[in-house]
Amino acid sequence: MKYSFHTNKKMTTLSKPLRNCFYLYGNCYNFKCILQNNQPEPAEWRRTLSTRSDHDVMGRKRILSGMRPTGKLHLGHYTGALENWVERQNELDASGNRMYETYFLIADYHSLTTSLETDDIFSFTIDMVTDWLAAGIDPEKSPIFRQSQVKEHAELFLICSMLITASRLERNPTLKDQVRDLNMAAVSYGHLGYPVLQAADILLYKGNIVPVGEDQLPHVEITREIARRFNKQYQHPLNGDVFEEPEPKITRFSRLAGLDGKMKMSKSLGNTMLLCDSPEDVQNKLRKAVTDTEKIRKNDPGRPEVCTVFSYHQRFSTPDSVAEIERDCRSGALGCVDCKKRCSAAISRELSPILEKRAEYAASPGSVKDILLEGEHYARKAADQTMREVREAMQLG
Ligand code: SF4
Repeated sequence: MKYSFHTNKKMTTLSKPLRNCFYLYGNCYNFKCILQNNQPEPAEWRRTLSTRSDHDVMGRKRILSGMRPTGKLHLGHYTGALENWVERQNELDASGNRMYETYFLIADYHSLTTSLETDDIFSFTIDMVTDWLAAGIDPEKSPIFRQSQVKEHAELFLICSMLITASRLERNPTLKDQVRDLNMAAVSYGHLGYPVLQAADILLYKGNIVPVGEDQLPHVEITREIARRFNKQYQHPLNGDVFEEPEPKITRFSRLAGLDGKMKMSKSLGNTMLLCDSPEDVQNKLRKAVTDTEKIRKNDPGRPEVCTVFSYHQRFSTPDSVAEIERDCRSGALGCVDCKKRCSAAISRELSPILEKRAEYAASPGSVKDILLEGEHYARKAADQTMREVREAMQLG
């Protein structure tokens, strides 16, 4: 499905009161959507066409979230980001309206910062987006799009890169951690600019809120600095400040331990449970999961606080069940084999609807690609609007 949008009046020619009217009464300006196959465009998107405001017609804040295309997602992605994305997407205010506009970005350019290998990038993208959709990301509510397919990301990245010093980027603690963790001998120019590209991603869609893990907080701070610097240097003739400084929002479960007991579940560490794992896979993987190493025999008293499986119970089992498991583990009444079986059942119960929905999308991979193409078409419109505003403020063109 393809859309083209037409307006009979250019935004740049409007006075401020009229411009405000545009947001409130978009139809006054004959805002038309012409559909090549005569189907209505998603109603949720229609309300959010203009990016000249930091809020849409409904006064909603905008959230931009993204992931690098790493293929099938694991439970760490789910609890650390995805379920939070779905919650924000579906959150309603007291009047029953959606609280946020949500945009979901596939950060494929960002993946080049740590690997130049691109053979699998498309299949990884499809696998990842299939997981997003299966977990509840709704393309009728939220555009889903690849960074590389919206050229304005690269354009705004270039402009943003002029607004921050190299020494500021070299001090970025996240970069230092990455260099240490990945044993990197040297850092590319693009890798140094990782947070600048992230800033361009956020500012391009005028994101007000950025859901992040704690390790990404310094990047949001860099985005805020770049937005401030731009507004100080350039003012739009009608709007004044072009960018609002986005606020970080720390996700509830930022980390899920790996099956091997390591702090973080990660593909590179080979300690993951996938979102698409069948109940048998879940059971088999959990059987090998690290528990309290001092609980050797079934009736030995255990220490749930050091046990990976217990941390999964805390996330996937009911509060009553968690309390019972904690008590029985400490007393020695519960053995690890039974405990793991209960944990597998709890995880599979939560994954069951996701697996079902995933199978539907996996049966027609073309539909996932169509969703991407639609999202990218929409994202380009929004990005173009911001870049026009940027160029007007900079008196370019
Ligand atoms: S009984 Fe359960 S919580 Fe206790 S150590 Fe074994 S697996 Fe962990």
